[in-house]
Amino acid sequence: MKKNNNSIAILGAGITGLSVAYALQKKGIDVTIYEKGTRAGGVVQTRRDNDWLVEKGPNTLLVSDQRVWDLLDELQLNKDVLTPGEEAKKRYVIRDKQLHAVPLSLIDFIKTDLLSTTAKFRLFKEPFIAGNADDRESVAGFIRRRLGHEVLDYAVNPFVSGIYAGDPKQLSVKHTFSSLFTMEKEYGSIAKGLLKQKKSSRSAGRALISFKKGLHQLPQALANKLDDSLLLRCQVDQVKKTATGWIVKFKNGNSTIENRHHAIISTIPAHQLPKIWNDEKSQQSVDQLADIKYVPMSALALGFRRNQIHHALDGFGMLIPEKEPFSLLGCLFSSSLFVQRAPKDHVLITCFMGGARNPDIAAAPTELLIKEVLPQLDSLLKVSGPPVFHHHTFWEQAIPQYNVGYDHYLKSMKQVEKTNPGFFLAGNFRGGVSVPDCILNGLDTADKFVKYLDSSMKSSP
Ligand SMILES: Cc1cc2nc3c(=O)[nH]c(=O)nc-3n(C[C@H](O)[C@H](O)[C@H](O)COP(=O)(O)OP(=O)(O)OC[C@H]3O[C@@H](n4cnc5c(N)ncnc54)[C@H](O)[C@@H]3O)c2cc1C
Repeated sequence: MKKNNNSIAILGAGITGLSVAYALQKKGIDVTIYEKGTRAGGVVQTRRDNDWLVEKGPNTLLVSDQRVWDLLDELQLNKDVLTPGEEAKKRYVIRDKQLHAVPLSLIDFIKTDLLSTTAKFRLFKEPFIAGNADDRESVAGFIRRRLGHEVLDYAVNPFVSGIYAGDPKQLSVKHTFSSLFTMEKEYGSIAKGLLKQKKSSRSAGRALISFKKGLHQLPQALANKLDDSLLLRCQVDQVKKTATGWIVKFKNGNSTIENRHHAIISTIPAHQLPKIWNDEKSQQSVDQLADIKYVPMSALALGFRRNQIHHALDGFGMLIPEKEPFSLLGCLFSSSLFVQRAPKDHVLITCFMGGARNPDIAAAPTELLIKEVLPQLDSLLKVSGPPVFHHHTFWEQAIPQYNVGYDHYLKSMKQVEKTNPGFFLAGNFRGGVSVPDCILNGLDTADKFVKYLDSSMKSSP
């Protein structure tokens, strides 16, 4: 095993850790990445089972930032990028136990039954509602105030479930819908903000993607570039500051090893850091990070023969608002989204259960989940008979929640970094939960680190 006493330690080889490591390596900085698991990628995991291809964690990347496209280019992944067909632009939301396509044009919006006529007219009031931006407002409070309760119940509630598996009554609007929050703050209304944004927007290529062999191709390509800097099966048990740098104590098999490093970039989940932190000075701030709430979630992939399902599955999937009498959060029509996800004449549907809405059900055993989900799928999509394939993944702490009060945690993170020069914190609990957010977060952390290195070199005699 490579023992790299002078390099920069990166804790965790999820997509954040891999992105920081790759960016630093490109700048000629020596890195050592410690990962407790047997493979790189963190929650980005793909499983192939004969002709079924299942995503255990994330299913799609919504890429809009040029830096992410550039990264895919450098990793030579562009040739493997898959984009969904035209049909998959269609997204369904359930209202009154029926699927309704989310309107994509003004005509569709006027015609849709997803919102009542009163709710549609209510939207015209938005520009005239006084701005009242408040750091402590929830998503639910903000949307209800500006756009009305139906938009909250049948647009924002299911959308928030699809991204955060979160509760709009608890999520902070400032930290999860920051562009809407800023529009109100700067322009007094969302409508005015959207108009300004349209005028100034540059046309960045925006696309929803995956890869031919699944999303795991991305972390795998990064891991290949990092080569023997990446230490798998190495669980960090302790980080400790010394007068000259940091000591990382880690387990590899039966051995416990200590390495010295100039600096540390931690990308392990927020609740893991207090367990390994060994420095009294910042202990309190680090301990607070364990209180960032993570919600549990189960991803249940179900395969059927095509003729078992009556619905055309002509779309991205369906999202289910909390008001509707279903325990499912939503489903992706995985085999409609991307090619080669299911054998010929079969379809794959990925169902999500749990989240902040229904945390207990996430931990249910597979058979029970299937029993719970099938009647719901039947009611919505007309399904006959049991699935011919299934794969279940339970994530006990799936996604961090940027709830009201999150500013307090951000302050703690900044405090830890300020008190401990050479220690940096990144991960999906800071700067966004999506995979592209984590990549950008990783690249920005690498830049932050280089600035630190430059300034510490200037200040040393
Ligand atoms: C079910 C699910 C569906 C999702 N769907 C989408 C989606 O469709 N699109 C999207 O963009 N995003 C999606 N997300 C969110 C996104 O996938 C994650 O936020 C992101 O991948 C997190 O990356 P990370 O590197 O910050 O953390 P992680 O992936 O959690 O990586 C942290 C790493 O640290 C390691 N580690 C922990 N403790 C130690 C230790 N002591 N020593 C060494 N290593 C340690 C872990 O093993 C892990 O590999 C989804 C997430 C989940 C769970």
